This record gives sequence, structure tokens and C-alpha cells, in this order.
Amino acid sequence: MNLLFPPHCVYCGCFLPEHLGLPLFCTSCTERFRSVGIPFCSGCGTPGSVFSLVDQICLHCHLQRRPFDCVVTLGVYDGDLRQAVLRMKRITEEPLVVSMGILLAAELSELLGGQLPDAVVPVPMLWSRRVRRGTNNVGILAQAVAETLQLPVLSNCVRYQRNCKKQSSLPIRLRRQNVQGAFRAAARYDIKECHILVIDDVMTTGATAGEVTKVVKAAGAAKVTVAVVARGIRA
Ligand SMILES: [Zn+2]
Ligand SMILES: [Zn+2]
Repeated sequence: MNLLFPPHCVYCGCFLPEHLGLPLFCTSCTERFRSVGIPFCSGCGTPGSVFSLVDQICLHCHLQRRPFDCVVTLGVYDGDLRQAVLRMKRITEEPLVVSMGILLAAELSELLGGQLPDAVVPVPMLWSRRVRRGTNNVGILAQAVAETLQLPVLSNCVRYQRNCKKQSSLPIRLRRQNVQGAFRAAARYDIKECHILVIDDVMTTGATAGEVTKVVKAAGAAKVTVAVVARGIRA
């Protein structure tokens, strides 16, 4: 296969000599996308410093608990990571989505250690949006994370029950209201007492991930970890 399709880095396009398997990132792109050593608040994924985080939790999360229990991210939605997330929305960038999923899985197993979740739930995509784009990048991302961690994916566990505007098209103050009560859980999945891993590409206000969390917790999930490729920081 390597002779027919010589492997190239899925982000920068450089040639990968003697590359075997996935992820298809060169060493410098892997380092670029994994903010190893930068502390992130485990409650909301905001980057902090050893001084601003107490017990790995930021002041905001100490004052106000969020619906989810933990957030894992590769880094801040900025620079190359932002470019990668934007490219991941294109139908032609499936190898980039899969490779990013494998990096996110590595981050998860490093941070969660032996406390890996029981199942993966992707943040759903509106049917109309999926048709327009021709791909469901978050679904593919979730599949790649799940396969790497050897976890089941509950693809249709959470669905939209009404139409919503695109979160990124709205000002921050309207985003919570836009997704409030937008989701419902499918009754056929028994997730009682489970630790669920909710996957999305980017998280900014946390409103969407929060609503999905509320739905899976109402269906009986005991714990929810949210994993996103990038954490958008509010300006
Ligand atoms: Zn590269
Ligand atoms: Zn926090």
C-alpha cells in the first residue's frame, strides 16, 4: 500500500519515510498538536498555569460546577490547531479527522489512565448540515477515538429533537439558549451507571457539550468526560 500511496503528513503534506500505519502526522505536526506539559483545567479545558489551577481546576469551575465532570482537549483553538479543525469539516479531510482522533485518544489514555470511559457518544450533527457538508466529521472523529481506545460508539444515542442555529454563527450570549433542550436520548441504549465520553471537534462556551451531558445523565449515566480537539477561548 505504501508503494501505491506513499504516506504524507495529513496536515503539512511532507513525505513520511518508512511510515507504518496511523496517525499520519509527521513528528513536528504531532508535537504541534499535542500541548504536552501545558496545564488545562480538568473541569472546563481552559488553559491555565500551575498558579491559576487549584487541584487542576480553575477558579471559575471551583465557583460553578458544570454538567460534565471532566474535559480533555489537545489545545487552544488557535493557530495550526484552529486551521486543522476548520479543515476537518471538509469531506476530503477524512484522514486528518481520523489522525486527530488517534491523537485525542492518546491524550485521553494518558490523562485518564485506568479510568477510561465505558462508551463514546458523538455530539450529533443536524441532518440538514450533514447533507450540505457531505460528511459528519464529529462522527468520524468519535469512531477513531473509540477504535483506538477499544470502546463502543453509541452513534445515535443522542439526537436533535428540534432545529438549532449553528453555534458559531451566534454571539456568545445567545448560544446557551440556542441549544437548550435541543437533544434527546434514544431509549434503546442502556447507559445506566456508565462513564460516557462525549466527543466534539471544538468547545467554546460548553453549552452544546453541557446539553448533551444533561441528556445522557438524565438517561442514567454516572459520569461524563468531554473530549474535544480544541478549546475555544472566549475573547
Ligand atoms: Zn506534518
Ligand atoms: Zn475550569
